[in-house]
Amino acid sequence: TKILAIESSCDETSASVIIDGHVKSNLIATQEIHRSYGGVVPELASRAHQQNIVPVVMEALKKAQITTKELDAIAFTRGPGLLGALIVGTAFAKSLALSLEIPLIEINHMQAHVLAHFIDEPKPKFPFLCLTVSGGHTQIVLVKDYLEMEVIGTTQDDAVGEAFDKTAKMLGLPYPGGVEIDKLAQKGIVQDYGLPKVDLPNLDFSFSGLKTAILYFIRKQEQKNPNFIKENINDICATIQHTLIETLLRKIIQAARQQNINQIAIAGGVSANSELRKRMTELGKEKKWDIFIPKMEYCTDNAAMIAMAAHYKFLKQEFSNQTVAPLSRMSF
Ligand code: ATP
Ligand code: MG
Ligand code: FE
Repeated sequence: TKILAIESSCDETSASVIIDGHVKSNLIATQEIHRSYGGVVPELASRAHQQNIVPVVMEALKKAQITTKELDAIAFTRGPGLLGALIVGTAFAKSLALSLEIPLIEINHMQAHVLAHFIDEPKPKFPFLCLTVSGGHTQIVLVKDYLEMEVIGTTQDDAVGEAFDKTAKMLGLPYPGGVEIDKLAQKGIVQDYGLPKVDLPNLDFSFSGLKTAILYFIRKQEQKNPNFIKENINDICATIQHTLIETLLRKIIQAARQQNINQIAIAGGVSANSELRKRMTELGKEKKWDIFIPKMEYCTDNAAMIAMAAHYKFLKQEFSNQTVAPLSRMSF
């Protein structure tokens, strides 16, 4: 089976070809335009997707050494994401499927982040827990089967990636802030700035209080020393990163105990964070868990994960019809 998959939910235009469950190509065009605005500008994202989609698809087909005529299905991200961005990928996928007279497969972007774990070895065994941490979501997912998942913990306000990006912006760092904080934190030392530890009794998260606490802390320090940020940027980044990651680890420990599961995975853009990767590996040794950490290219948005999800949907013959429309919010 040969499937072409398209991802266009945010600011990466990506296309991937999967043949019999093996990813043959994964082309990603990251939109640089948003950097100068300090965040993703939805209208500009749609426009860039419109410009990039054909070249990216052509490259993905070329790299996989196949032509459109050989394709058995077209998959696309239906949601969640920016509506205008999703429309570009959806319309393209529908048109191509229609003209080739082949099935159309809709994919949930958050399920795809989880299924990125099935692209390469080692693969987790069901049931496993996946901590999906990205720009728009923070979820603890109980994964019962390829397409059978349940969110057992989520954020009540900001996503953890958003917390990284927003605090980075306060510090004057470029977008995407998570990457910058990770980089600078490596040269810093974790300090006791008295940042709050928000702990909800269930498996849910809350990050907005921490964000506000960081803002007030910085303002207060700047009144005493206007160069506070500049002089302490590495330590500030290390402390913020540490605080965010501690929260994630506490909740995944709680979830593993509650569900009695020792197969633990991380996924999504924030799973590219070097400290989170290191701490999860250490935690795995300590708790005797099997830990699954995606390759860097499969952490942030990519079409290979969409293709992998499409492979499983094709096996179950789960197809969409031509009236399907994208959804900015979409649950499993
Ligand atoms: P969603 O998947 O929820 O729809 P998204 O698709 O925008 O959101 P991803 O591409 O999966 O999100 O992830 C992007 C997020 O990952 C951004 O918030 C970015 O700051 C964060 N991120 C990327 N690399 C790192 C890193 N090394 N450390 C921390 N955060 C990171
Ligand atoms: Mg992105
Ligand atoms: Fe994503």
